[in-house]
Amino acid sequence: MEGEFHVDIGPQYEGEVIRKENLYIEFGGPKVSHRFELATVKSADEIEHEKVEIIGPDIGDLQPYDEEKGGGSYPIGILVDVAGGELDKDAEAIIERRIHMFTNMIEGWYHMNQRQDVWIRMSKECHDKGFASLRELGEIYILLYTSEMPIIEAIQVTIITDEKKVAELMPHALEVYSARDERARTLNDEDVDTFYGCVLCQSFAPTHISIITPNRIANCGAINWFDGRAAAKIDPEGPIFAIPKGEVIDAIKGEYSGANAIEADKSLGNYDRVFLYSAFEHPHTSCGCFEAIVYYIPEVDAFGVVHREYRGETVIGETFSRMAGESSGGKQIEGRLGTGLEQLRSPKFIQADGGLERIVWLPKDLKERFKDALEAKGLYDKVATEDDVKNVDELMEFLERTGHPWLKGEV
Ligand code: ZN
Repeated sequence: MEGEFHVDIGPQYEGEVIRKENLYIEFGGPKVSHRFELATVKSADEIEHEKVEIIGPDIGDLQPYDEEKGGGSYPIGILVDVAGGELDKDAEAIIERRIHMFTNMIEGWYHMNQRQDVWIRMSKECHDKGFASLRELGEIYILLYTSEMPIIEAIQVTIITDEKKVAELMPHALEVYSARDERARTLNDEDVDTFYGCVLCQSFAPTHISIITPNRIANCGAINWFDGRAAAKIDPEGPIFAIPKGEVIDAIKGEYSGANAIEADKSLGNYDRVFLYSAFEHPHTSCGCFEAIVYYIPEVDAFGVVHREYRGETVIGETFSRMAGESSGGKQIEGRLGTGLEQLRSPKFIQADGGLERIVWLPKDLKERFKDALEAKGLYDKVATEDDVKNVDELMEFLERTGHPWLKGEV
């Protein structure tokens, strides 16, 4: 696929990482407050096939990143609207997640994360080759979607960089994401015979497979069991596929023969067991796009959770990005678990280790976001945040004072 565009396109570019040294411009990411990507299934008459619309300043209108002055980070909203006789709403999350893969297939482009955490970079080399408009990005998306997902019969792409417009549309995207998460809460692992596997992250983490079950969303937090089912139906040979659950080997730890078999296969033989409900022994592998990390705090024999947006140090003195560096790449690391945030609401979240009751530290932002789940277990006042404690000594005091159930041995 070349000639038509300024850069090459293909799976060989998927592992390409764009660091500051060769960064031209970035959209989304931690430096901007408004960013999202959203796929919507519409009826054919609502779509102008192959239309690309740019709302707001284009690449050529924006100051690039400057090594001395910084800058070069801009808001982004990507809307992918699709129609097709065989398409239904169930496919939206899957179509949306393909933005990740398709952007990474473009030479000189890099896509990280998903939903409201999306982070896209374009390299200097790409700019030098003449890539000067987001219109080209939109056109590439259309080419890839129509060639790789024949179920899509009509598609239009809107890319928004106008801050006001991104801010105006973002609440709707957030509502759609939570409706997807909400729906998945009604089903449990006992209710199904099929799990789903996702190897979308193998270009960065070659031994990683996300195992998606009703009680376990993918690490990225963007693909739940219903989404996995829709993906496997649309494209059974694609990066998301069905896994027979097999025999239940351990219902508490979450060990299933089907999950073990696929783990051995897709981790290239590095691992042959996986405990879906534990951060110890054979924890799930961590790719690089996980929304949060569950980390063990040996002094209190309990866990903290830190999410990607939290910039400061955790109670053990490490930041998210440092921990992410140590925990990513597709390894099983005892006491370090990359996870989707929705897991905090899962009844099987590290159930083998004590579940939510074993969490003793959360960033304030997460504590508020999961207030209902914490209150349901009487934990809301007992979990410390960065405002309550600065180090493990203060944490121990705090837990003692508030009577955290894990430290009292009540769990
Ligand atoms: Zn991932």
